[in-house]
Amino acid sequence: MKSVRVVIVGAGVIGFSTAVCISEALPFCSVTLMADKFSPDTTSDGAAGILFLHHIMQYDKVNILHGKICNDSFDHLLAIAQSQCQLILVPAVETPFWSEFVIGFRPMTDVELKRFPDHKFGQAFTTLKCECSTYLPWLEKRFRKAGGQVEQRKVNSLQELSNSFDIIVNCSGLGSKILVGDTQVYPVRGQVLKVEAPWVQHFIRDGDGKTYIYPGIRSVTIGGTRQEGDWRLQVDGGDTKGILERCSRLEPSLNKAKILSEWVGLRPSRKNPRVEREVVQLQGRPVPVVHNYGHGGWGVTLAWGTALDTLGLVKQSLHEMASQAKL
Ligand SMILES: Cc1cc2nc3c(=O)[nH]c(=O)nc-3n(C[C@H](O)[C@H](O)[C@H](O)COP(=O)(O)OP(=O)(O)OC[C@H]3O[C@@H](n4cnc5c(N)ncnc54)[C@H](O)[C@@H]3O)c2cc1C
Repeated sequence: MKSVRVVIVGAGVIGFSTAVCISEALPFCSVTLMADKFSPDTTSDGAAGILFLHHIMQYDKVNILHGKICNDSFDHLLAIAQSQCQLILVPAVETPFWSEFVIGFRPMTDVELKRFPDHKFGQAFTTLKCECSTYLPWLEKRFRKAGGQVEQRKVNSLQELSNSFDIIVNCSGLGSKILVGDTQVYPVRGQVLKVEAPWVQHFIRDGDGKTYIYPGIRSVTIGGTRQEGDWRLQVDGGDTKGILERCSRLEPSLNKAKILSEWVGLRPSRKNPRVEREVVQLQGRPVPVVHNYGHGGWGVTLAWGTALDTLGLVKQSLHEMASQAKL
């Protein structure tokens, strides 16, 4: 008999990674994942899914890079990945802090740099690309196999869940702004295009992170925009024009590529992701709530690592519940 009832809110890459970690590690718990949107309609579905981190983030006073989060995610995806791809980046001259977590980091050669006449420096490395439109259904299957249940439902407040569940895990991304009233969460709008350009073999990313070309399984994703505080989900014609111009400057052959689709997603941003535990009074009783949201433009990169940390926080809540039950 499963004794502890855990609910996870959110069906993006953070919610499903967390659900898999909890259901597999804690078979005595009954685990339900609840969300109003599922694949293919989440933000995660549209992410390019490149494993890469541009700046150091922190939670629990620990730098994410030093906290093994990136390495945990990288190792997990490397184990299930079909292929890796080479990324060419064109930023400043010094060695960046993330160079140790990607594979084969090196400065570009003069011959390679000749392809980018607007740039004086370049860096080349290999990383993974995880496309969530196939990864999320795979995670869902794994979650169900471990006994997890899935329910489509909008959660209007945590109170709604407190009678049916013993532990609430909040992976609602941008939804946390309303669900838990977090004023620090904000959208960073990203527009991308999918184009047909099978001859493009390497990832190319400009140093400011706003212009990138990421070849995928069926198409090449080109982008992008980073518009802070912008909630618009509709495609902007001006952005499309700008993306095509900037990407064609980096890779002129894209001029003849056919546009297959355009997409806008809102990165669930926060100064640092919130991965922490609290006890909230709901319907007159204390309920452990574990948060895992606010991963901004790096959710695919950080998902498995923060899911493992969230599992640790759920275990702490279980220990606390067990010792309180003994009193
Ligand atoms: C253009 C673009 C490119 C990107 N590229 C990359 C990249 O290359 N690499 C990378 O690592 N990251 C990238 N990202 C970032 C990545 O997409 C996000 O960090 C990640 O998707 C966040 O995942 P999530 O599960 O927190 O959020 P989401 O995918 O938005 O999922 C949130 C879930 O919570 C549910 N939810 C919310 N509120 C409620 C509620 N009240 N009740 C019920 N359910 C609720 C939603 O329905 C949904 O299921 C990119 C993002 C964009 C926009």
